[in-house]
Amino acid sequence: MNNIQSDFYVCECELGRGLFASRDFAMGDVLFIFTGPEIDLATTIAKGDAEANALQIGPLSYIDLEVPSVYANHSCAPNTGIKNKTEAIALRAIKKDEEIRYDYSTTMSENRWTMQCGCLALSCRRVVRDFHELPHNLQLYYLDLGVVQNFIVEEFKKKTEPNQALQRTITAVTERAPSSTLRASHDRLWGQKKGSWVDS
Ligand SMILES: [Zn+2]
Repeated sequence: MNNIQSDFYVCECELGRGLFASRDFAMGDVLFIFTGPEIDLATTIAKGDAEANALQIGPLSYIDLEVPSVYANHSCAPNTGIKNKTEAIALRAIKKDEEIRYDYSTTMSENRWTMQCGCLALSCRRVVRDFHELPHNLQLYYLDLGVVQNFIVEEFKKKTEPNQALQRTITAVTERAPSSTLRASHDRLWGQKKGSWVDS
């Protein structure tokens, strides 16, 4: 396991402060673990402006993120995803001094909190909302990568139950062997579409 203290550093970025890589990482590397005490929804809401610092890991459970992982910002074209609730993994090769960013929507299902986005990605959605409100092809992209919180995957399967064709696609992408998935999804979706998403 990498050492978050020595392999990453906190520095100014256009969004305020961000988390940056101190060295190169390969696609698929586990970068670090998001850590902090587990808190409930009421405690998260009570944090006010600091609410964005909590990582949702269940319908009503959050991790009150500690320094430095709390400085990992959102991007609509992320280089990082979250697996197994708290593992930050590289969605592509990450160079030394590159900022670590994940898509907050892959961890959001609460039907209340949104965030204005100024991430500057060509595919920027302007407002970050719950996973369930993402365009379908982006939902499938993240499901395919396995970087959507498990409780959201279960919610999504239930929500889409009436749509049999979509159900088959979801089953196909969520049950595929994870090792081959990362590169295949990345090449197919980022490689060909060059990061621009069209709602389907
Ligand atoms: Zn954005």
